[in-house]
Amino acid sequence: MQNTLKNIGWQRIVIKVGSALIAPHRDGCSSQYLLSIANFIVRCRAAGIQVVLVSSGSVAAGAHLFNNVDSSSMTVKKAMAAAGQSEMMATWDRLFDFNTAQVLLTHADLCVRDRFESVRDTLTALLNNDILPIVNENDTVTTDKLKVGDNDNLSAMVASAAYADALIICSDINGLYTANPHVDKSATLIRDVARIDANIYSMAGGATSDVGTGGMKTKVQAAEKAVSHGINTYIVNGFSESTFNELLQGNNPGTLFHAIDNPMQDQTHWMKHTTKAQGELVVDDDFAMQKQSDNLLAPQDLVNVIGDFSAGEVVLLRKENGDKLAKVKSNYSSCLLNFVAEQDNDDLSEKLHDASAPILSNQFVPLGS
Ligand code: GLU
Repeated sequence: MQNTLKNIGWQRIVIKVGSALIAPHRDGCSSQYLLSIANFIVRCRAAGIQVVLVSSGSVAAGAHLFNNVDSSSMTVKKAMAAAGQSEMMATWDRLFDFNTAQVLLTHADLCVRDRFESVRDTLTALLNNDILPIVNENDTVTTDKLKVGDNDNLSAMVASAAYADALIICSDINGLYTANPHVDKSATLIRDVARIDANIYSMAGGATSDVGTGGMKTKVQAAEKAVSHGINTYIVNGFSESTFNELLQGNNPGTLFHAIDNPMQDQTHWMKHTTKAQGELVVDDDFAMQKQSDNLLAPQDLVNVIGDFSAGEVVLLRKENGDKLAKVKSNYSSCLLNFVAEQDNDDLSEKLHDASAPILSNQFVPLGS
């Protein structure tokens, strides 16, 4: 078994486990489904594979501690998460005879490059000391703007921060189907996905419909993030023990999204898939993209500046007609660029043009409109 695992070539993996596996009855944690997952993690580690666990379930684990509350309230959910997190960690801890570490993150942490790298360094130090990191979103401090919102996408961000080789996302069905298997009996399981496109998203439920089964869309989003970092991504049935036996034998028990051949460079990947634009630079509709790549955004091109951002932060570059051009790092703050956009002054244009730093840094990621 160990040799088979070694043959897969994994050195570091991330496994994402959802709330329904942790607290299937929403009355505290249960080890019913966790035993086979824990066994899988133990076997991987015994084969020399480093594992990061991304575990949801704090809200579901804490819910039974609250009586007569409005469980749809965000504040109550956050309180449930805070109370349930320790119960969830204790449950995982009981299943392992090695040490675990709690890592709570928000999107605000991952959006700032220094903090993203700090997460990376901490995970690496834990793994190199044989400690199992157990990651969850830090629900207490999240706001709508600052939360990842789902642990599928969080797991992909963590996998890229950890430079993982594989991401395993546990679902309640066997993988991605051609249609929702609960309603369409002719739906078939897709074994391999070489390229994630609109067709794949439509099978996952598309952007607006609910056709896909519970959270399949966020799982495909996570896969898209991960494969573009060179990470093979599996969506598997976490409720079935045979899933983990198959994985241990080097087989694909669900849907495997194959890592792309030329993964994005790490910084570019972070700009595209992890950080959020802190504001917008709106440029003239005639603005030509190659100008931006040459750092030649002239003050006259700038029509509007939206949001508050500091120098060095990532912003969205878009045309007045709404077309998204790129995510870029701005060398100037919104305050200064607002002033620039308001001027009709060639003198200022020339001064900025000649300044040592152009408006945009050379770090940018082109986007489709
Ligand atoms: N942080 C939430 C929890 O632990 C989970 C979010 C999710 O499952 O996507 O309950």
